[in-house]
Amino acid sequence: MDTTPDIVIIGSGLGGATLAAALAPTGRSIVILERGERLLDTPAARNDNAIFRDGVFRPDEEWLNGAGEPFNPGNYYCVGGNTKFYGAVLLRYRAEDFGRLQHSGGVSPEWPISYEDFEPWYQSAEEMFQVRGDAEQDPTEPEHSGSYPFPAVPDEPAIALMRERLEKAGVTPSSLPLGVDVEKWTARAQTPWDAFPDTTGAKMDAESVSLAQALTYPNVTLETGSEVTRLHTNGAGEINEVDVSQGDTCLKLTPNLVVLAAGAVNSAALLLGSANDANPTGLANRSDMVGRNFMNHNCSAVIALHPTRKNDAVYQKTLQFNDFYLVGGKNNLPLGNVQLLGKISGNILAAQSSLPLSIANWVARHSVDWYVMSEDLPNPESRVTVKDGKITLDWKRSNWGTHLALVKKAKSVLRWAGYPITISRAFDRSAPSHQCGTARFGIDPSSSVLDVFCRTHDHKNLFVVDASFLPTSAAVNPGLTIAAQALRVGAHIIEKDLAA
Ligand SMILES: Cc1cc2nc3c(=O)[nH]c(=O)nc-3n(C[C@H](O)[C@H](O)[C@H](O)COP(=O)(O)OP(=O)(O)OC[C@H]3O[C@@H](n4cnc5c(N)ncnc54)[C@H](O)[C@@H]3O)c2cc1C
Repeated sequence: MDTTPDIVIIGSGLGGATLAAALAPTGRSIVILERGERLLDTPAARNDNAIFRDGVFRPDEEWLNGAGEPFNPGNYYCVGGNTKFYGAVLLRYRAEDFGRLQHSGGVSPEWPISYEDFEPWYQSAEEMFQVRGDAEQDPTEPEHSGSYPFPAVPDEPAIALMRERLEKAGVTPSSLPLGVDVEKWTARAQTPWDAFPDTTGAKMDAESVSLAQALTYPNVTLETGSEVTRLHTNGAGEINEVDVSQGDTCLKLTPNLVVLAAGAVNSAALLLGSANDANPTGLANRSDMVGRNFMNHNCSAVIALHPTRKNDAVYQKTLQFNDFYLVGGKNNLPLGNVQLLGKISGNILAAQSSLPLSIANWVARHSVDWYVMSEDLPNPESRVTVKDGKITLDWKRSNWGTHLALVKKAKSVLRWAGYPITISRAFDRSAPSHQCGTARFGIDPSSSVLDVFCRTHDHKNLFVVDASFLPTSAAVNPGLTIAAQALRVGAHIIEKDLAA
């Protein structure tokens, strides 16, 4: 391994790999350090019991919750990070999400940059991730400067009927923007892709798109099985050493520029765990904001059932409605997004509930399954801390009343659409799938960790380019916004020649 590269990127997930792709053409030597390995195509990759019941892809790791109880987090360590398992929904935040938004549970603060400033990077990210979509269908869709590179993924017949029924029920269903090649995905096996690992490159994820692009350049190398354990600073407050553990071997790297992209929980943990005499509360933590404002969305599964109508969809995940995204709550305040889940099977349902398999199979054959998502608001007391090397994730849910109101609305729409039985269940707290916010960006160094280009206010050669930067969670899936920001940061590093 080159131990003196120009740039070290820690983590090959969405933020890290996309930044690597942006910086690769500079010719600077870039080493990407990834603690996981590439996922292999095994039978388990398309086996619902292996994934949902046996948890074969979950890490062998324990975090503590706010009550000090251990749990096994649904946080994946592999090349491509959490995107290998993602639902590939690549939605933009709504333009209103960049401003101050009042919710019944509090305020979602204004971003330090506007939607108009950010828009070109959304466009570039959609092109890079080959998003399939239609920006004309959803009235909440913000202005696009270009069109989606591919038309929307078609609804399966059962979902096309659902779309018609929703329209009759008075809402405006629209196609989910997706980064997936459905034909390639279903050629491997007839399964949904949401929460299933991508081992064939059919999903447009951090490995199949950004990393693949970055690694076509000879100046970029990927080191797997390489966990970064500590960052060190010199007298000038710059990061001068990166400690890496490769099994029994420990290495030290001395790059010019360090980019932390280990995901919102692990990036915060690494900054906090790297405390030293000059930075006693952790690196980049003069504001005391590192690890704080952890957000993760308030999400529930809602199953809509008609006892005599079968749902034969394989993947299902092509629709959403945003009629209650900006309005519809108490005092007409925002509620959130309603989108389809990947089609649940009897095995998935039985694994996640106490239903006997025979009943779970019957329900799954008749249900259309939804993912109802509302904004989690920033709260400094919702936080990641590290003690004796162990991570505590004390997630304080916010805005829960808004979420319950959205679940109620969604159920009522689904009943109007002809599904007399609706059952909901909140997603487990142990799955921080949409984790974000632990090193938020901002203009004021006393209340933010990063500047608007994700450079830490405290260490001029340290950037954090992953979900940590998000100052708000909005109520849409975070991936496209993380990728767009990585492209924006990459262009800034190149323009200012910050890796020199
Ligand atoms: C089941 C599931 C479904 C999802 N569906 C969607 C969706 O449909 N749409 C969407 O937008 N988002 C979705 N997400 C969320 C999305 O995957 C994440 O928001 C995104 O991957 C976060 O990017 P990141 O760069 O912050 O972190 P990740 O992509 O998780 O990357 C972090 C990387 O850092 C590595 N790493 C961690 N610690 C270290 C260390 N110390 N040293 C070296 N490497 C390290 C990890 O192994 C990982 O590869 C989903 C997530 C899950 C789990």
